Amino acid sequence: MVMIRKFFSDGIPSFFNNYDTGAPFTKCTFCDAALDAKSKYAIEKMINQNIALQSREIVYEYALCWNCATTMGSQLSNDSKEAIQELYKEHSETVMRKLDYLHRTEKYSLESWLERCSLTGKEIRLCSEFSVSGIVEGGNLVYEQSPIVVSDEFMHKLQQVLSKETKEGFDALRDKILDSSPSIEDLVFGPVPGLM
Ligand SMILES: [Zn+2]
Repeated sequence: MVMIRKFFSDGIPSFFNNYDTGAPFTKCTFCDAALDAKSKYAIEKMINQNIALQSREIVYEYALCWNCATTMGSQLSNDSKEAIQELYKEHSETVMRKLDYLHRTEKYSLESWLERCSLTGKEIRLCSEFSVSGIVEGGNLVYEQSPIVVSDEFMHKLQQVLSKETKEGFDALRDKILDSSPSIEDLVFGPVPGLM
């Protein structure tokens, strides 16, 4: 049996702060809804890493209220949804092994959770690009199925299975609500409801 608990951290690790303000996000990047102590929302960061120099920079980041996350999940075409779920299923053993280990040993620190790709197990220090997403509830980061960290290796796999319709649908949504923003390939790395 895979052990999955729901553990609330004390507050939100500074890693998930808004890079510009140095403080936690206060509103949804997509609809401007206020994020307060009662909100449930997701934060995602895409990070570029120079392995040789051991330096990192944020490509983009956003906070996503639960309403917007649900809307985005429903914008996926059925073909894409199936393809993504199939891809996740292929990697579910790694996913479950990692979750089981982290919960069983009660390693509730971001450092432990970000060591390896949630899907492929690839070491994050060896990635030139990776994304991290987490869920906040009641002002605290939740350790449950997430935080999820996705390696460049898995990103490539995912990009190959997404349908043209899905990419276009998300691009349209993106154009509507953001000036410069993540693309569909990036959005589905986050904890989109109904996918994991
Ligand atoms: Zn929103």
